[in-house]
Amino acid sequence: MPVRTCVACRQRFEQADLVRVRVTAKGLDTGPGPGRGAYVGPSPACLAVALERKALSRALSAEVNAPDLARLYGSWPVEPLACPHGGG
Ligand SMILES: [Zn+2]
Repeated sequence: MPVRTCVACRQRFEQADLVRVRVTAKGLDTGPGPGRGAYVGPSPACLAVALERKALSRALSAEVNAPDLARLYGSWPVEPLACPHGGG
């Protein structure tokens, strides 16, 4: 099982436990497919940290703003799990 690093907390997870966020012509999306992608951990805290530290923006070389984040939260494809960084 491949292992990827969460761009928010830098913890390593099995790829299946991470969410791939990618840049598409219509904006940000999640899941497999073409486009530049970054992996974020399974916890909403990871996504929050990624936004806060602009880690996702840097990883994707794209603007990541609150509406995009809200949309991603609405379509987060995996069940939230406890994240090792504990949201702190
Ligand atoms: Zn994380």
